[in-house]
Amino acid sequence: MPENDLHLDQDPLWFKDAIIYELHIKAFQDSNSDGIGDFNGLIERLDYLQELGVTAIWVLPFYPSPQRDGGYDISDYYSINPDYGDVRQFKTLMQEAHKRGLRVITELVINHTSDQHPWFQRARRAPVGSPERDYYVWSKTTERYKDVRIIFQDFEKSNWTWDDEAGAYYWHRFYSHQPDLNFDNPRVQEEIFKIIDFWVDMGVDGFRLDAIPYLFERDGTNCENLPETHTFLKKLRARVEKRAPHVMLLAEANMWPEDSASYFGDGDECHMNYHFPIMPRMFMSIKMEDRHPIIDIIEQTPEIPENCQWGIFLRNHDELTLEMVTDEERDYMYRAYNKDASSRINLGIRHRLAPLLDNNRQQIELMNSLLFSLPGTPVLYYGDELGMGDNVHLGDRDCVRTPMQWSPDRNAGFSRANPQELYLPTIMDPIYGFETVNVEAQTRSSSSLLNWMKRLISVRRAHKTFGRGSLEFIYPGNRKIFAYSRAHQGEVILCVVNLSRHAQPVELDLAVYAGRVPVELLGRTPFPPIGELPYLLTLPAYGFYWFLLAEEAEVPSWHQTIPEPLPDFVTVVMRDGWSALDDPTNRRSLERQALVPFARNQRWFAAKDAAVARIGMGPTAVLREGAEGLCLQILEVELADGSAHRYVLPLAVAWGEENVHT
Ligand code: BGC
Repeated sequence: MPENDLHLDQDPLWFKDAIIYELHIKAFQDSNSDGIGDFNGLIERLDYLQELGVTAIWVLPFYPSPQRDGGYDISDYYSINPDYGDVRQFKTLMQEAHKRGLRVITELVINHTSDQHPWFQRARRAPVGSPERDYYVWSKTTERYKDVRIIFQDFEKSNWTWDDEAGAYYWHRFYSHQPDLNFDNPRVQEEIFKIIDFWVDMGVDGFRLDAIPYLFERDGTNCENLPETHTFLKKLRARVEKRAPHVMLLAEANMWPEDSASYFGDGDECHMNYHFPIMPRMFMSIKMEDRHPIIDIIEQTPEIPENCQWGIFLRNHDELTLEMVTDEERDYMYRAYNKDASSRINLGIRHRLAPLLDNNRQQIELMNSLLFSLPGTPVLYYGDELGMGDNVHLGDRDCVRTPMQWSPDRNAGFSRANPQELYLPTIMDPIYGFETVNVEAQTRSSSSLLNWMKRLISVRRAHKTFGRGSLEFIYPGNRKIFAYSRAHQGEVILCVVNLSRHAQPVELDLAVYAGRVPVELLGRTPFPPIGELPYLLTLPAYGFYWFLLAEEAEVPSWHQTIPEPLPDFVTVVMRDGWSALDDPTNRRSLERQALVPFARNQRWFAAKDAAVARIGMGPTAVLREGAEGLCLQILEVELADGSAHRYVLPLAVAWGEENVHT
């Protein structure tokens, strides 16, 4: 193992505890003043990422490309876009990232190539039926696969485009300049394996498998999620695993939960997979002030294999996709989040996180709290940790791909180039402009979003429960409150979220955790211990709590246990003096209704805040029989940690007219 890799988490399931930061090389930092970000620039900024606390970076496609789809139109899989650097610099990035404990995930775009790729140029000229021609999917008519949906519906009218040179139509699920590779051709599969081997050997830690549901086409189907795709993925996984067991495969399958989960296979396809449908539902829940959309989609999500993990995100480099919602939900989302007509693209909304939430700091924090506490590995989009804005005057999805805002200096500290040379203009509006929103200013302000995000990330990293724990919902009567617990290896974290724009009270049934002390994780503040009664909390507008339900924590010093009221009477039939206490029924009523609650309310009861395993009556010593009877009763308390306490309670008989029953 290279020396630098020793700084990495060596667990093969490292991706379960990861925090992924998504970035474009071109957008992050320009080191040679040509207006385009590059590998050397990213290397200079790795310290920033390490300080932020993320543990992996996902770099968008950096290969040579005509750049007609943000680099997802690849013309050479084996080298680097010269605007960004070269293979040597890529290797340096790997070393420098690993040295800082950061893993690097790259893009594997294998469904399609650019039409400028030599394979396509060769295919269109090759004789019909030749293996070269068969690298792509051709047809004499547009009638085949007629019912297959069009993904880029604002830009394409058909999934077929005519090629004069070939005298045939070619198949493409995305732009017409991105012909789909033909995975039925074994040579294509071999080419893909070679590409993967090449990048695995370069030390890459993971691959995002772009547009993976669309690899194969079959008549009479929707050409998505076909069994052939899964067979291919199993082969790919086996191959990668053999060569580099730590390498993680992340599927981009924008599907309903059931279909999406199929990309985990039996734990033998992709390690990770984005949970697309949960994303719009987080936005719906906060607008509707109702937890139902999130709970509903999670309940529709199947269990996944032990060695797999969902990836969750709020925003990314594409539009906020609304493909995996119902028509009514989509209408709702457009009504709620479309700022103006130009925000809409394909089936989605092209805005960054902060503008979507009207730059409301509490909502931004709340949405991040969901991102960092719901099951899955969070993926953070560059600039969203600052609350960066967008520019809908830029075409396609470029509005959310503008230069990273480092400082109030020229070009946001991103580049020394003439501002007119930048690959895209910086954000300059009065609210989100780089003079206001930038890393330098936010680093200096203790109350900035950036510093808050660092805190949130460090809390998340301190508890594996967030990445690995089970999930259980609590259903308090107030539906504006979303409450859930995460548990892992004995640790329990309770998350309580107020989805409303107004303060809300909530009564939570936490009786199963009675005796534990909730410790709020961002401030490490202990709250009063949980009892048998509903636990009352109040939350400010869009407030949230992450509580560690501690077994050992000190209760707050100001806390006073409110004595539980004792019953007015307990029926004990004393036919034969104190020997009545030997009777199991009498013993049980006295124990449960009188002695135990009485003892718990006393100052001298030392186990007040400890977890009690058993409490009950021990031996009785009779001091005086008869009407003026007196005895000493031992009360035995066993604590969860195995230690034991004993108390002596004097008991007397007091006769009152109304209490004597014969
Ligand atoms: C990527 C898009 C890209 C498309 C075609 C997607 O899934 O996220 O940015 O345009 O694949 O490659």
